[in-house]
Amino acid sequence: MAFKPANNIQDLQYFGEFGGVNPSISDSSTYTFLSAKTMFDTFEGNADGCYLYSRHSSPSNLYLGEALAAMEGTETATVTASGMGAITPVIMQLCHAGDHVVSSRTIYGGTYAFLKNFAPKLSINTTFVDITKLDAVEAAITKNTKVLYCETVSNPLLEVADIRGLSELAKKYNLQLVVDNTFSPLSISPAKLGADVVIHSLTKFINGSSDTVGGVICGTQEFIDTLRNVNDGACMLLGATMDSLRAASILKNLRTLHIRMQQHSKNAQYLAEKFENDGLKTVYPGLQSHPSHKTFKNMMNDKYGYGGMLTIDVGSLDKANTLMEMMQDKNLGYLAVSLGFYKTLFSAPGTSTSSEIPEEEQQDMGLSDGLIRFSIGLDADIERTYNMMHTCMKVLHIL
Ligand code: PLP
Repeated sequence: MAFKPANNIQDLQYFGEFGGVNPSISDSSTYTFLSAKTMFDTFEGNADGCYLYSRHSSPSNLYLGEALAAMEGTETATVTASGMGAITPVIMQLCHAGDHVVSSRTIYGGTYAFLKNFAPKLSINTTFVDITKLDAVEAAITKNTKVLYCETVSNPLLEVADIRGLSELAKKYNLQLVVDNTFSPLSISPAKLGADVVIHSLTKFINGSSDTVGGVICGTQEFIDTLRNVNDGACMLLGATMDSLRAASILKNLRTLHIRMQQHSKNAQYLAEKFENDGLKTVYPGLQSHPSHKTFKNMMNDKYGYGGMLTIDVGSLDKANTLMEMMQDKNLGYLAVSLGFYKTLFSAPGTSTSSEIPEEEQQDMGLSDGLIRFSIGLDADIERTYNMMHTCMKVLHIL
């Protein structure tokens, strides 16, 4: 039967302490125990339903985690203070000194910088590969490899990972397949395709209001328990914990994610087709011309489209900057990093979100100077938006 992630979220009912339609917020960092024995058992991890301290877990965080696990189809999930606060403990939990990671070379700049510059300090080394080439991925695996890491749809090049193919490799070599699904919530459910751990930066589409950072790790109960272990759990010990007030507000926004994703995708598909027809070099997984269009199509859930992210190449950084400034002047969107907002956001990744990647490596992977990354907003009249963007491009001789 088809996997219906939005139904899974909708079917979860949580009531507040006084019958409220939203769950009460747990406004406490610590919790009382009726007996000293229960406190001891809780520390040992043997007292289900008891809370000990909010860095470990809190009722509000558990509600949000449960809803996100339902969305991704995993046994459970744990929420974190940011997307990086989800990615880094997962890598550190799964890898010890001497272990090795095979990662997509096109990933969010912060994740790239962590794997390239920080993890080697812990003697965890990474080989970066073209994730769309399964033979290159397999060739990079060594006897020390523990993790295959990728983004379902990569930041910023929008390469699409073949999760089923990667999962077969992971099983063959006994690796953990860790997938960052930030760009394609609801559209693609990596765990259903064989991913072992699914991560999101909640900062983006899932929260959708650009008012907080947040993250989540979705996986098996056993793995999430390991991350929370008081003796050696990376989430518990590194301390990137989400605040309960934030968890409550993200849960409320999650309730409308399905409607927002449909509109983001509809608007992005419309603009991508128009830009491509105008002769602009346009990358969007929903375009037939996208090299992995079929891969995305074969993985996607019904209804949510190909996501809200697209890129165009306008030839040079100067042109990209002038166009972005002009579009901002016309109130078509904001010159800002991040994504998933109601308003369109645009940035030149080479000099912003991917600036951690050295220039020659950017060139190697096809990250050109004139590339503009768009997170398409929820505009009610996308035709009007397109017409105004088209005028800006004409004025600047981009078209
Ligand atoms: N993963 C992806 C794909 C991202 O784009 C980002 C941030 O831009 C992150 C992870 C990191 O998330 P956060 O900024 O919430 O730490």
